[in-house]
Amino acid sequence: MTKQLSRRTFIKSAAIGSVAILGYDPLLRSWITAAQAQSPTFKSAPKLDGILLLDDASRKAIAVDRGNLFHRVPVAVLKPGSVQDVVKMVKYANQHSLKIVMRGQGHSRHGQSQAEAGIVIDSSTLNAIQPPTSYSVDAGPGASWGDVAKTTLARNLTPPVFADTMTLTVGGTLSVGGLGNTSQHFGAQVDNATELDVVTGDGRLVTCSPQRESELFNMVIAGLGQCGIIVRARIRLIPAPSNVVLHNLVYDDLEAYIADQKQVAIEGRFDHQYGTAGRKRNGPWSFTMQLGKFYTPPDEPNLAPLMAGLRFRSQAEPVRRTYAGSTLVASPVRFSGSPMKKSPFRCGCFGVSRPMTLRHSRRCWRATAPCCNR
Ligand SMILES: Cc1cc2nc3c(=O)[nH]c(=O)nc-3n(C[C@H](O)[C@H](O)[C@H](O)COP(=O)(O)OP(=O)(O)OC[C@H]3O[C@@H](n4cnc5c(N)ncnc54)[C@H](O)[C@@H]3O)c2cc1C
Repeated sequence: MTKQLSRRTFIKSAAIGSVAILGYDPLLRSWITAAQAQSPTFKSAPKLDGILLLDDASRKAIAVDRGNLFHRVPVAVLKPGSVQDVVKMVKYANQHSLKIVMRGQGHSRHGQSQAEAGIVIDSSTLNAIQPPTSYSVDAGPGASWGDVAKTTLARNLTPPVFADTMTLTVGGTLSVGGLGNTSQHFGAQVDNATELDVVTGDGRLVTCSPQRESELFNMVIAGLGQCGIIVRARIRLIPAPSNVVLHNLVYDDLEAYIADQKQVAIEGRFDHQYGTAGRKRNGPWSFTMQLGKFYTPPDEPNLAPLMAGLRFRSQAEPVRRTYAGSTLVASPVRFSGSPMKKSPFRCGCFGVSRPMTLRHSRRCWRATAPCCNR
């Protein structure tokens, strides 16, 4: 880029065309500009390949995320049919001083993928994955990491790092970081993106990488969705391991657990490293370090010397899996207990009666004063 681009300049340019403030809308908790007051009809909206949803149900359905703390209702939801739809709507949002945000699967917890009285772009319709080369794969922002894995593993290739939940989106984790159980060797998912197509705040479609338009690339990658919209990502691939042996070590002592996690990560003794903390009601905490070593049968690795000096209390029997099996099957199983699963009960905690999420229901049932309408 020839022009210096700072986060502040980006935000300014995204708000170009503003701003005659008419007043504050307490319902929307937002300042209303003259342009915004006229915009909700979207009469002058550009012709799109996808659809722009203005109905109440679609706008409210997208005003939720995993945190379930904020419910900011947009004035429109774009389901883009093409990258050009994103370009057109960013320009339109600029003209009308509307906030605009892209949403992956809304796994964020603090309303980051919501836009009060603005436009939310639902990335799920931009989920195409191109056939991989030996070194990389190109994916749309709404593609899930599970679908990326399916495509690349069919050719015995894999991204070096997966987050632990395979329904997270490519655009979503490349905007926040993306740590996984191989990060001690390969960094975060953002360290393995080699090129991006980005729609900038002023509505330009720019291809960027560490070598080309690097300033934009470095701002957008892990940029929390504040510095541009990712509409294509190129992800580095490596040969997929064939098998993995997973071993769970259980600790009572937090300090020993943390020291061992740190030591194993620094020394890189294992290929896979993961950890959980848990406790039964009123019981003591226990900590599990899951370690894994990749191998190609029949050369199974000897784990005993790799565990030398670790201070765990007990260990489970090692589990052997194919790499594809552990990647494609294990994560959705974990995900099936996710907080967004609908419960049959309804809750009025936020002043609105709606189906409770599992996490919400647990919180409600633990509360001393009952706060749910069953
Ligand atoms: C069950 C669960 C497990 C998780 N496991 C991990 C894990 O193992 N490792 C890890 O690192 N994180 C993990 N996370 C956190 C996860 O990375 C974030 O929640 C992240 O927000 C990704 O979720 P998403 O794809 O639904 O994106 P969203 O939550 O929809 O979006 C996240 C942010 O990115 C922006 N954004 C989305 N798409 C784009 C785009 N194309 N261009 C620009 N900005 C965009 C949004 O505006 C928002 O600010 C986990 C979260 C949950 C709920």
